[in-house]
Amino acid sequence: MKPFDYRSPADPAAAVRSVAANPAAVFLGGGTNLVDHLKLGVAAPDLVVHVADLLPAGIEELDGGALRIGAGVRNSDLAADRRVRERFPALSQALLSGASGQLRNMATTGGNPLQRTRCVYFQDVTTACNKRQPGSGCSAAGGWTRHHAILGASEHCLAVHPSDLAVAMAALDAEVRVLGPDGERTIPFTGLHRLPANTPERDTVLEHGDLITTIDLPALPLARRSAYRKVRDRASYAFALVSVAAAVDVRDGVIADARVAFGGVAHVPWRAHRAERVLRGAPATEETYRAAADAELADARPAEGLDGGNAFKIPLLRRTLAATLRGLVREDAR
Ligand code: SF4
Repeated sequence: MKPFDYRSPADPAAAVRSVAANPAAVFLGGGTNLVDHLKLGVAAPDLVVHVADLLPAGIEELDGGALRIGAGVRNSDLAADRRVRERFPALSQALLSGASGQLRNMATTGGNPLQRTRCVYFQDVTTACNKRQPGSGCSAAGGWTRHHAILGASEHCLAVHPSDLAVAMAALDAEVRVLGPDGERTIPFTGLHRLPANTPERDTVLEHGDLITTIDLPALPLARRSAYRKVRDRASYAFALVSVAAAVDVRDGVIADARVAFGGVAHVPWRAHRAERVLRGAPATEETYRAAADAELADARPAEGLDGGNAFKIPLLRRTLAATLRGLVREDAR
C-alpha cells in the first residue's frame, strides 16, 4: 500500500478545504469500500481526510413526515429506525439486504451511495479498465459480464452501481445536500450518479472536495407501501444481479401513483420513469406489470461474455418487478 497522510479535521468545512486543496486527497467515511481499494492499489491517495465523526449522525424530523438523515448515520441505525421502517420500508429493506451486519455497523449514509463498482476488472489492477485508468480499455467487453449493465452502458464501460440504499433513495425522491468549496447545494438523488458515456472514471456529478452532509426523504405517503426486492447469487453478502425498489398507491384496484427504481442493471440506480408512466392510472394486474417492464426495458442491451453474458437479467428483472408490485398490491388490499 502506498503511504499517505491522515488528517482528522475539526468540522466539515475544514475537511472540505483539506480535500479541495489537494487533487490526490480523499474523504474517509466508514471505510468499507476505500480501505479495500487502498489495499488493492485501486486507490492511492496522498491524503486521507476522516469525516465519519464530523458529519451529522442523527435523523431529524421535517414537516409532514419527511426525514433528514445525517451523512454520518450508520447503515444499521438507519435500517432499524422506527420512522424509516414505517414510512419508508423499501429503504430499511434495501439496507438490510446489503453487505453484512459488521459492514452495516460501519458504512455511513453519505458514503454508501458513493461506493464504487464491484466490476472484477476495476478491482484487479493488472487488467485494463477505463474507470480505474482512463483510456486503458475495458476488460469486461468480451470478458465476464454476468454482473454488468443492460441499461445505459457505453462502449467505454458497462459496470453497474452496487449500492442497495441508492436504489431505494432513487425511488423515494430523496435529495442530497452537499457541502463544497463554494458552499452548499442540493441535488436530486436521481441526478447524483451519471452514466458512463466516454468518461466512466466519474461515477457522480460531485466535484473534487464535495462532501455529502445530509440526505432528505420527502414526505411521500405512498412510500409507506414500498418494498425492496433483491435477486443475487447467494442469500446474503452478495451484490444484486437485479433489484427493484417500488412504492404504489392503489385505489379500487387501480394504481393511482407509483415509484420504481432498478438496481444491478446500470451505472446508476435506475429510476424507471417509463414503467411509472405505464403504471399510473392502470389496473393493478399482471398485464399492467408486464407492460411496465416492457416499456422500461425496450432499450435494454445485454452484454455477451465469456460466462454466457447477462441476457438473463431481462426476464429476471421482468419477474422481479412483477413480484414486487404484486406483493405491494396484495399488502394494500389487506
Ligand atoms: Fe472498467 Fe467499466 Fe470495463 Fe469494468 S466495465 S473493466 S469498470 S471500464
